[in-house]
Amino acid sequence: MYGKSAVKQKETARYKPHVKKGDSVVVLSGKDRGKKGRVLRVLATKGKAIVEKVNFTKKHTKPNPGKNVKGGILERESPINVAKLQVICPSCNEPARLGSHRNEDGDAVRFCRNCKADLNK
Ligand SMILES: [Zn+2]
Repeated sequence: MYGKSAVKQKETARYKPHVKKGDSVVVLSGKDRGKKGRVLRVLATKGKAIVEKVNFTKKHTKPNPGKNVKGGILERESPINVAKLQVICPSCNEPARLGSHRNEDGDAVRFCRNCKADLNK
């Protein structure tokens, strides 16, 4: 049976998201399908990213006069699974599948499989 020996999911599992902060991406599925935005933050351990204007959720806030906070509904971006995102290549302006290769310094460089241009610059 399960119980004590149940395998814990490691929160620290190292994903290697194909998206990076500052990338332009398009959303492939979900309610924001087709939306484009810039990656604001990548949550690598969760395999998620926060994308500008994508996956807005409403958050109700209480007024707090001491901190000069007005009550109301705040809309904020929520993290979205990186698997739902596709990077838009800055060279050919198309949503692109990415590959990676190593440059002369041994660093992994992502490149666009459409036009073969490198993305990290
Ligand atoms: Zn390209």
